[in-house]
Amino acid sequence: CVGSTKTDRIGTSLLENIQTQIRTEPFEDIYRVTPNRELGRGKFAVVRRCTEKSTGTVYAAKFVRKRRKGQDCRVEVLREMAVLELTNPNPRIINLHQVYETPTEMILVLEYAAGGEIFDQCVAEGDEAFTHQEVKPLMRQILEGVDFLHRNNIVHLDLKPQNILLTSVRPLGDIKIVDFGLSRRLCQNHELREIMGTPEYVAPEILNYEPISTATDMWSIGVLAYVMLTGTSPFLGDDKQGTFLNISQINIDYTEGELQDLPASAINFIQSLLIKEPKCRATAEECLRHHWLRTDVPQKTDDAQKTGDAQKTDKDFTSDFCQQPRSSL
Ligand code: ADP
Ligand code: MG
Repeated sequence: CVGSTKTDRIGTSLLENIQTQIRTEPFEDIYRVTPNRELGRGKFAVVRRCTEKSTGTVYAAKFVRKRRKGQDCRVEVLREMAVLELTNPNPRIINLHQVYETPTEMILVLEYAAGGEIFDQCVAEGDEAFTHQEVKPLMRQILEGVDFLHRNNIVHLDLKPQNILLTSVRPLGDIKIVDFGLSRRLCQNHELREIMGTPEYVAPEILNYEPISTATDMWSIGVLAYVMLTGTSPFLGDDKQGTFLNISQINIDYTEGELQDLPASAINFIQSLLIKEPKCRATAEECLRHHWLRTDVPQKTDDAQKTGDAQKTDKDFTSDFCQQPRSSL
């Protein structure tokens, strides 16, 4: 609820166009909340499984507090709702079904992603963990969703494994991007700075109070790819300050044990994103064309390249990008 709410022209233009009806009838009249099935919880929200009585369809209801730290933050929830409305046609982004309001809360009734967070597989060991071959199609889907957001000048600003859900785990389903609580719409003549996501995933420009752009999300995609492939967080320090120092110095070791078994193209993909200069990072569209994720590139060639080749490939790849500066939106 910092100064970016009512005075934020970007947010306001989004808010003015909200179409979704905000219902005030008792939520419990329309939905049955599944007892003891809390799906997740954040600082200001709790997500519960529920069933629409008239249809029997299962949804995830996100109960969001309107007052936070003594301030009225209803507009923040409206912004989340407006972004969800705008992204509704995209299958990679969670669908918003209905919205309810009580004196203290807003309730966002969302499509239910039964497979839960990809976080569980990221931290799992053995058979439960993602294989490299599983990560590729999931990463493609994440990028398709992010590409859609960026084409619509929306930045998510909190991309991390806890906010990427699955429709099912076995068999491995499709991904759904959730949690647009920090997301913003970018505007050409209005600079956006200082929206703090989750320490391990924030880009250097956030720490330096420099302008936010779609590239800010692409940094998080780089961290996400690293975590999905290795199960470890590349910049995690002993404490928050240590993590921030690792990020600002891009203190990352590409020769780490977990990376050794990956094809060079996967490492090159990560390296094309974890670059300090936002304009030099690959865009979502470019990532979708990256040879690691291309389905038409024979896997033999791809897997034959090992880490040793990665540095060379990376230089070619990134310098190419930096010769064609991206629009910073
Ligand atoms: P917060 O802003 O508090 O982080 P999120 O929107 O990320 O709220 O929701 C918190 C958690 O609830 C998610 O990390 C996920 O585990 C669960 N969750 C959120 N939306 C859904 C959904 N549509 N289906 C299933 N689980 C969900
Ligand atoms: Mg979240």
